[in-house]
Amino acid sequence: MRLVRTVKSQEIFVVRLPFTCDLLSELTRFCRERGIRLGHLSGLGAVRRAVIAYYDQSKRQYENRVLNEPMEIISLLGNISMKEEQPFVHAHIALARRDGSVIGGHLCEGTEVFAGECVIEAFAGDDLVRAPDPDTGLQLWKFPNP
Ligand code: ZN
Repeated sequence: MRLVRTVKSQEIFVVRLPFTCDLLSELTRFCRERGIRLGHLSGLGAVRRAVIAYYDQSKRQYENRVLNEPMEIISLLGNISMKEEQPFVHAHIALARRDGSVIGGHLCEGTEVFAGECVIEAFAGDDLVRAPDPDTGLQLWKFPNP
């Protein structure tokens, strides 16, 4: 494990998501409007439909999955850092179907909120920037210079 940084809490926002909003877009918009450049978030609620992705590690590409059904948000977890000079939300979501089975993945645009309650914690300090990572093909947090 390599330490990327230590942080201090700056502010904690307790938010309710609007009915029918796009979950990822709404979280991103909130962070950009409030100038939240570094932080983390958690939430729960329900969605009317969802788009999640699975990262195929050998092909190095995301496979999207569209779920056109109402589901409970069992867990929404994410972080906020900088990508291409803008606050960027990276979130994963676990969703429960009517029968209680759970499906989850990388949260994509196209996930429509039925109801949502989130806590977003902004951290103080310098930006944490995403950059291409040759080992994974992903845009990961860049380590500080040694
Ligand atoms: Zn992800």
